[in-house]
Amino acid sequence: MITFYPGPSKIYPQVEGYLQDAYRSGILSMNHRSQGFMDVLKETMRLMHAKLNIPDDYSIYLVSSATEVWEIIAQSLTIQDSAHHYNGAFGKKWFSYASHIVPQTSGSLFPIDQTLPYHLFEHENDTARAEFNRERLRTYEVLCLTHSETSNGTQIRMKELAQIRSMTDALIAIDATSSLGGVVFDWTLGDVWFASVQKCLGLPAGMGIMVCSPKALEKARKVNDVLRYNSLLFMHENFDKYQTHYTPNTLGVYLLMRVMEQVENIQEVGVRSEKRAKSWYSFLENETNWQSLVQNQATRSDTVIAVKCDLESIAEVKKAAFKAGITLGNGYGEWKNTTFRIANFPAIEDWEIEKLKDFLRS
Ligand SMILES: *Cc1c(COP(=O)(O)O)cnc(C)c1O
Repeated sequence: MITFYPGPSKIYPQVEGYLQDAYRSGILSMNHRSQGFMDVLKETMRLMHAKLNIPDDYSIYLVSSATEVWEIIAQSLTIQDSAHHYNGAFGKKWFSYASHIVPQTSGSLFPIDQTLPYHLFEHENDTARAEFNRERLRTYEVLCLTHSETSNGTQIRMKELAQIRSMTDALIAIDATSSLGGVVFDWTLGDVWFASVQKCLGLPAGMGIMVCSPKALEKARKVNDVLRYNSLLFMHENFDKYQTHYTPNTLGVYLLMRVMEQVENIQEVGVRSEKRAKSWYSFLENETNWQSLVQNQATRSDTVIAVKCDLESIAEVKKAAFKAGITLGNGYGEWKNTTFRIANFPAIEDWEIEKLKDFLRS
C-alpha cells in the first residue's frame, strides 16, 4: 500500500533501521536529564538549524503537537488580542481554541482563490475597507496565519508574508504544520513557526516543533506566563540546557535527529517540492478530468494538493485507488465530500507519484 495521506503520512523507509538503532543505542532507557539524552537533543537542534536554515538566534522547542502550540501562543505570547486570518479548517480551529483563552480574539475568513494582501488591501474600489484593514493590521498584537492550509491545499507565499510583515509590528505566528521541511521559508518573516513531525518530515506521528524569534522570547518575558507546564519561559529554561519541560518522546527525538541527518538542505528539498507541485497541477489540468480545488496559481500549496470532485465519483475513485494499493487523502472540513487530497511531501518517491498518475489517468 502506498499512501498520499497528508498526515499522518508516508514515513521515510530508512526509519525502520533508525528504530533498530535507537533500541541498540540505549537512548530509549536513558533519563531525559542524562548527558546521553542531552547530547541527542543538542545534535537534533544543531541539525535542524543547519538543514532547515533556521537563523542562529531563533530557538527551537519540541512539544507534543501543533495543536499544543496553538495553546502555547495564546497562553504565553498573547496578552489580550489574537487576530486570525484564515481560509480553511485548521486556521478556523486555531481561532476557536485561541478564543477560549484570549479575551479579545478576532477571526476573519478570506477566499481560497485570493492572496491575503489582495483580499485585505488590493480589492478594487473598496478604499474605505482597505484603509480600515490597514489600520487594524497595524494595531494587531498577535497575528495568526496558516502557511499551508492542509484542509484545502492553499499556501501563503513568502512575498505576501513580507508585505504583511512590513505593515505591522505585531508578533506573527505561523502554522506551517504541513510545509515545514518541504518548503523554503524566510524565517525572519515570522516570530513563531510551528509544525508536527508526521507531515513534511516523514516521521511517525506524535511530536510538534516550535521555532521562536528573539522578538517572541522578548514578548514571552513580558507576558510572563508561568502558570502552566508548557509555559514558554519554562520550556525555554529547559531547552536552553538541552533538557525538556516534561519527560519527552525520546524515540521521536532520536528519529528526528536521524532524519535531519539524512535529508538534504531545505534549499534543495524546496526546489524539488515546487517542481513536483507544478507537475501535479499541470498533470491534473492537462491529463485528467479532475480539477484542482484552488484555481489561483498564486494561492496553490506546494505540499498539499486538493482535487475537486463530485459526490458520486469521489467514493468511486477512493475505492478504486484502494484496490490499486493507493491511499488518497480524504477531503477535510467544508471540503470533506467534494475533494480528495494528495500529499506532496518529501518522503514520497518518484515511482509512487508515477503510479498515482497512471491510476488517475485511467
Ligand atoms: C495537521 C495539522 C495540524 C494539527 O497537527 P497535530 O500535530 O495533529 O496537532 C494543525 N495545523 C495544520 C495546518 C495541520 O495540517
